[in-house]
Amino acid sequence: MSTQTPQFIETLDPRTGRVLARVPDHSAEDVAAAVFVARDNQRAWAALSFPERAEHILAVRDLMLDRAETLVDVICSETGKLPSEAVMTELVATAELIHHYAKHGAKALADEKVRPGTMIHKKAYRTFSPLGVVGVISPWNYPFVLTMTPIVSALFAGNTVVFKPSEITPLVGLEIAKLFAEVGEYSGIVTAVTGGGATGDALVRSGVDKICFTGSVATGKKVMAAAAESLTPVVLELGGKDPMIVCDDADLDRAVGGALWSAFSNAGQTCMATERVYVDRSRYDEFVDRVVTATRRIRQGTEPGDDIGSMTFERQVSIVERHVADAVAKGAKVLTGGRRVSGRDGLWYEPTVLVGVDHTMDIMTAETFGPVLPIMAVDGDDEAVRLANDSIYGLNASVWTTDLERGKRLAGRIESGNVCVNDAIVSYAVTGLPFGGVKESGIGRVHGAEGLQAFCDSKSVLVDRFGMKREAWWFPVPKTFGPQMTRLIRLRYRRGLVNKVKALLPQRRR
Ligand code: NAD
Repeated sequence: MSTQTPQFIETLDPRTGRVLARVPDHSAEDVAAAVFVARDNQRAWAALSFPERAEHILAVRDLMLDRAETLVDVICSETGKLPSEAVMTELVATAELIHHYAKHGAKALADEKVRPGTMIHKKAYRTFSPLGVVGVISPWNYPFVLTMTPIVSALFAGNTVVFKPSEITPLVGLEIAKLFAEVGEYSGIVTAVTGGGATGDALVRSGVDKICFTGSVATGKKVMAAAAESLTPVVLELGGKDPMIVCDDADLDRAVGGALWSAFSNAGQTCMATERVYVDRSRYDEFVDRVVTATRRIRQGTEPGDDIGSMTFERQVSIVERHVADAVAKGAKVLTGGRRVSGRDGLWYEPTVLVGVDHTMDIMTAETFGPVLPIMAVDGDDEAVRLANDSIYGLNASVWTTDLERGKRLAGRIESGNVCVNDAIVSYAVTGLPFGGVKESGIGRVHGAEGLQAFCDSKSVLVDRFGMKREAWWFPVPKTFGPQMTRLIRLRYRRGLVNKVKALLPQRRR
């Protein structure tokens, strides 16, 4: 690795502010060395059959399950999550994705027959082959699953990986690297580089064959601009400002519970967190009262049985404070919360409910990424959809109604990569469903067949079936070729039998 004096970054426990460890701040030279190793190992890995690769990844998952308690401790110490959250959202989601791809991945990567259309004397199909080395850059909010998801997808597809975990959660990244290093003979298929933005930028510019980036819109734009210089393809999984629409016929028991969980779990630091609620005016007062009462009962702490933990990153707490202050200055009212937890070290912010909000406020338009739930009354579904779509983001959304057909109709009208009806966030847990954003929430998809094919080159193959000596359009081109082709296209594309038959007769020039 680097010949320069090694540099380090510190990682903190956000629950206490204590320094946990120092890890290397890898240079561009270190990144290049890691990519070199990954490239060296890629051919052997790609040469394995899909079941052989799956077997190896399943063995990594076995080790992950054996180490579940240790992994949860590391995740909680760097993020402030509760162990229950870490197990459910980080480990279960990872285990399930590996299960899904081990079972269905071969089909997604199998050759795909394509009808040859007019070329009836040809065979056509599409194949998927690995890209080579994939660079993965991940955020701090779900540092395990959001790093493992692109890693295992790229591996199942036959690539090797160099990844850079967030500088806020590098220890989780190093635990991931250990899982891969300690299983079997293919220890070089996944390599971690640690560091901040400069290390990430070096990875984007390192000559990898694709970048899968998960993080903020602002950084995503920088990644895409840097990748454009070498035309390196990108998957961008970016931020959101997910709307929740509560219709006049919603089951409020469920809608209130869903609003709280989707807004406050992981202290609101979920890309698909509910960040704004539009409630039909006829149910607004009841909904707000019930949300406020339930929010005051949320237990914030570090113990089993607590509901939410601390926030993870000081800069994010400042953004939350800024958005709440901006809303209040413009006339919003804080019904509960609205401040840091007093008398406690670490990054603790109270679950907060705001009303009197509108789209002139950052709290309704910019990603807040904290435990804050702003609620707005609307007059009917059309206004709710208009406001939901009044956003630069389009990651996830939710619709709450007892009429499922109405829910599905509304889901169809919302500009978003994902929508849930009478639930929120959990579309991500269905790993067969492609996941990703529209508008500024991202480009490309993870999960599902698309999430595997994203890490492949697609090759279209055409095979001549009959071995005729020549094609009708080869040289020398027969004089009759043009008129014959004209008759043929009329025969094939004219609509209705009579019109097709007419095509065989001499035509008047028009
Ligand atoms: P971030 O953009 O600050 O950082 C993400 C990663 O990019 C980090 O590893 C960081 O070191 C790296 N990075 C920074 N500058 C870089 C550069 N110039 N080139 C390459 N890499 C660089 O995001 P964050 O604060 O870690 O994460 C929170 C954001 O991520 C939120 O906006 C959230 O919505 C989004 N997010 C999206 C999804 C999704 O799937 N759509 C999931 C989780 C989080």
